[in-house]
Amino acid sequence: MTSTIKIQRTEHPKQRPLDKDLGFGTVFTDHMFIANYDEGQGWHSPRVVPYGPLELDPATAVFHYAQGIFDGLKAFRGVDDKVRLFRPDRHVQRMNESAARLCIPPLDPELALDSIASLVATDRDWVPRTIGTSLYIRPTIIATEPFLGVRAAKSYIYFVIMSPVGAYYPKGMAPVDIRVEEQFVRAAIGGLGGVKTGANYAASLMASELAKHEGFTQVLWLDGVHRKYIDEVGTMNIMVKIGDEIVTPPLGGTILPGVTRDSALTLMRRWGLRASERQLSIDEVIDAHRAGELAEVWGTGTAAVISPVGELTYKGHRMPINGGGIGPVTQRLYDSIVAIQYGKAPGPDGWTLAV
Ligand SMILES: *Cc1c(COP(=O)(O)O)cnc(C)c1O
Repeated sequence: MTSTIKIQRTEHPKQRPLDKDLGFGTVFTDHMFIANYDEGQGWHSPRVVPYGPLELDPATAVFHYAQGIFDGLKAFRGVDDKVRLFRPDRHVQRMNESAARLCIPPLDPELALDSIASLVATDRDWVPRTIGTSLYIRPTIIATEPFLGVRAAKSYIYFVIMSPVGAYYPKGMAPVDIRVEEQFVRAAIGGLGGVKTGANYAASLMASELAKHEGFTQVLWLDGVHRKYIDEVGTMNIMVKIGDEIVTPPLGGTILPGVTRDSALTLMRRWGLRASERQLSIDEVIDAHRAGELAEVWGTGTAAVISPVGELTYKGHRMPINGGGIGPVTQRLYDSIVAIQYGKAPGPDGWTLAV
């Protein structure tokens, strides 16, 4: 497959930022990957080209009806200087599930994996070196047909861009304050909540802007029907430790199937912890807090890996968790996943792919 990807190297390599100056998603590497889809032809012309703007007709479908999907994964430079992707096969599989929901033709999984691997190999020098830094990879598919009728488009582009990113926690994991959202909903059963598409993010902006204005880091989403069951926290999956049970909401409706969520569940079960995928109501969380059983709460996602929640606020009622500190399972998960990503510890089979 790799041989079918044409590689055109840039003649103007950019200056790479120093690791200490890296933020998130502001600087992009020298190259990007592109492939086209046209009706009758399928996906074609896979290529690595110099990073640069796309030229698109203003009538392009994705601008109007949001027919587009994306994913997000990372490459890490290990302590042994090897560059590893973390569970890229799961990300490719999820990207195709997102594509299916948005009526976008699926990619050949092998080509998708190759597109990422060959782009990372081309820009290998862009993978930063300091522990905690990484290369964020953003595969995206957009409908490109210039047509204002509402239906699935007949042409698409798949592109992959990459951004070297700084450590999410330069000074160690930091617990965040979260407000339980009562007014807005992120997703409803039968909607798009289970897939990674920009529309979900557009729907979430107002709630998170208001919460930030009130001094919170993010919102905790409740289900859209009863406003009762916990869905996700910001753009992360959520896990709640009540007594000795760790609970996370089940997939299959409004929950995005996070790769970090799956990794955390797998590790916790290997460690012999009781990790349940079941519905969890906000009332159960409040009762657990009253009973002194609300031990730990954390979010999971590629950007932060694990994000401890220090305090939950529901209807003005504040519930500090673990004294606002980081709990033992939260810390162990973070340390274990990071160790696998940087090649310090072997993960379960197939979790990392050296490029
Ligand atoms: C991407 C995403 C996550 C986390 O998924 P990971 O694969 O762990 O990065 C969780 N929730 C939402 C809404 C997301 O978009």
